[in-house]
Amino acid sequence: MTNNDSTADAVAMFSPDAGQAEKPAAAGQGGTAVTGLLDDKVVVVTGAASGIGRAIALCAARHGARRVIVGDIRDEPLEGGESTVAELERLGTPAQFVRVDVSDRAAVDALMASTDDHGGADVMVCNAGITLPADGPFVDADDFRRLMAINVDGVFLCAQAAAAQMQALGKPGSIVLMSSMGGVRGTGFTVAYSTSKGAIANLARALADGLGSSGIRVNAVCPGVIDTHLVRTTPDMTVAADAFAERTPLRRLGRPDEVADAVVYLGSDLSSFVTGTTHMVDGGLTAVI
Ligand code: NAD
Repeated sequence: MTNNDSTADAVAMFSPDAGQAEKPAAAGQGGTAVTGLLDDKVVVVTGAASGIGRAIALCAARHGARRVIVGDIRDEPLEGGESTVAELERLGTPAQFVRVDVSDRAAVDALMASTDDHGGADVMVCNAGITLPADGPFVDADDFRRLMAINVDGVFLCAQAAAAQMQALGKPGSIVLMSSMGGVRGTGFTVAYSTSKGAIANLARALADGLGSSGIRVNAVCPGVIDTHLVRTTPDMTVAADAFAERTPLRRLGRPDEVADAVVYLGSDLSSFVTGTTHMVDGGLTAVI
């Protein structure tokens, strides 16, 4: 089998129906409100134009969020289709797009300021992140730094800005950081990426301790391999996806809405005594590797 063949196979496996057990209509997929878990909460999601972030924004709306702020460097979803804000408005949830590069502190401050007229953010989801077309032990040093600027500095800046706002308003908010299975395990073809996601898992632990006395909770979510543009366009990942799916106890890749469900739980009061955790959403893969 050539590389192209295996890439084609992997991409075919990403089709929404491929090998995936039916999930009952639920959060992130249905049409109307599912629960009131996020009732009255203002939710900010970075990287929400596409993929997992988009699913989180829509899932938050379906769980009753009062307002959803979509922070991203681009408005149009990478997969095509309508913008996340247009979808949110269709669900009847007030929403706003704020153009932000999460590695730019001034832009991140402006993102948080967009919530000022709405009582500030109750839930901050620091989701934006990238992979590299060529990663590994000999990853280009400039690429390494570019990835760190977004995946680590960007998450740090967003979490810090949210925490400062929550503290100033006396809000017991929830901050959710997007780590990865790659943050708790290493693979040779994701050296820079795994390093960045490991930093995020520990950032959640350290911030949880530092902010707990203010009632602010900080948790990391660690998805396994999820069917998004990011995975479909990362060459080594498309090739490895078959093997990952086969070794996963649930024998398939994950969907963005399945990560979103976990984020809604961590953002909601249902997880009021949960902080400093790394919450796996990986079909069981890290339990067995
Ligand atoms: P994606 O590429 O589909 O979407 C990422 C979004 O982030 C895009 O809308 C993009 O425009 C935005 N973005 C990129 N750089 C940005 C920046 N500097 N500032 C603001 N926005 C920016 O990716 P995804 O698969 O949805 O991944 C989302 C997060 O989940 C990332 O942090 C990723 O590392 C993490 N993750 C993904 C997987 C997976 O298998 N897809 C697994 C584990 C973790």
